[in-house]
Amino acid sequence: MQVALLTIGDELLIGQVLDTNSQWISSFLYENGIELATTLTVSDNKAAIGEALVHAARTNRVVLITGGLGPTMDDLTLEAIADHLEVPIVFNEETYARIEHIFKELIKRPLSPLHKRQAYQPEGAQTLENKQGTAPGVWIEKDEVIYIAMPGVPREMKYLMTYEVLPRLLPLASTKTRKEVTIHTAGWGETQIATAIQSVEESLPEHMTLAYLPSLGTVRLRLNAAGDDVSSLEKELVKWKGEIVELLPKEIVYGFGDTSLTEVVQQLLIEKKMTLVTAESCTGGMIAHSVTNQPGASRVFYGSIIAYDNSVKKKLLGVPEHVFEQYGAVSEQAVTAMVEGVLPLLGADVAIATSGIAGPSGGSPEKPVGTIWVAIGTRDQIITRKLSFRHDRQTNIARTSITAIDMLRRFLLMA
Ligand code: ATP
Ligand code: MG
Repeated sequence: MQVALLTIGDELLIGQVLDTNSQWISSFLYENGIELATTLTVSDNKAAIGEALVHAARTNRVVLITGGLGPTMDDLTLEAIADHLEVPIVFNEETYARIEHIFKELIKRPLSPLHKRQAYQPEGAQTLENKQGTAPGVWIEKDEVIYIAMPGVPREMKYLMTYEVLPRLLPLASTKTRKEVTIHTAGWGETQIATAIQSVEESLPEHMTLAYLPSLGTVRLRLNAAGDDVSSLEKELVKWKGEIVELLPKEIVYGFGDTSLTEVVQQLLIEKKMTLVTAESCTGGMIAHSVTNQPGASRVFYGSIIAYDNSVKKKLLGVPEHVFEQYGAVSEQAVTAMVEGVLPLLGADVAIATSGIAGPSGGSPEKPVGTIWVAIGTRDQIITRKLSFRHDRQTNIARTSITAIDMLRRFLLMA
């Protein structure tokens, strides 16, 4: 069953409101075994909505629509649907009585004539009761295509999708089961990964797909299988997951399923009975923030010194003056001294230190913007790494934080 989604509203096209309805609906349907074939965002313009309906109806059995159901003049969805289906718009007594009831009994305000507009529906439509607002949803079928209009307000749309739309769609959808596994990697780019696992990807059976979901410094691989028998799908996924992991360096795969880098690092710290501190210059506390965002952080994390200015690196962390003079604050020597200083100061077992030029200014020919030094270490052993990024300031900082946390993970694996 092919399903299309139209999200309607000028505000979505001028970047004023993020189209979260698309994201919510696509994942909600997907979780329920229904896949969206396409989504389209359309302006509050009757002709534009009409064209989108023609386009969507050409190849889809179901056309979901959100937005433009309200009482104001810019809400034109139902008129556009009526025109498209060549049926009149008719007044629905029952809907009107419901709206009247809501205003009298619940809102206790007089009904404005504008609200009467919400009781008009294309002839032949069924009403989908909206217990979260005044505008009801509308379900209308013509020429084998089902059109379902819902309000744009996310809360109302979610209510209708959950209680009115999905229960009616499920019996129409072919009920193939879907199962998936996620492989989390850090440190390799998606092309590097794709090259390494090409042979597996090429031999994946028809009913399986592999998706690459890259984000800063990490790539998730989502392996998906569709079929009738859950247990055989699960077996297949285990087999193919194993083949993929086999072809990747061990240290880049940090977990499976519902996990995160910070969760894995926290687990490793617990296992090794180690406590963490950070001494952050260019990351300004972002590493500490990521670590403490993970529930349970207090078991492994003591605190952080944000040593942004050299005076703090010197006074609190004891970085010697000659290090700045000889090597500069962005240097292997500086981050090494920061680790050596913060460990006794805060009394932890392992520390992360960062110092770099996040940009946009402050670069030099030998140390361009995006040059960042990271050190990870204990009292016995310190490792360092020079990062060279070419992003904007925020991205340089975020990617440094993720990379440093991944360095800590690898360090702990060896510890
Ligand atoms: P109402 O009955 O409340 O008037 P409506 O169907 O007319 O609802 P809209 O006027 O299009 O809906 O939108 C109502 C609210 O929902 C607005 O604040 C709008 O920004 C928001 N909204 C609309 N579409 C989306 C979307 N796709 N994603 C997120 N928010 C949306
Ligand atoms: Mg609107």
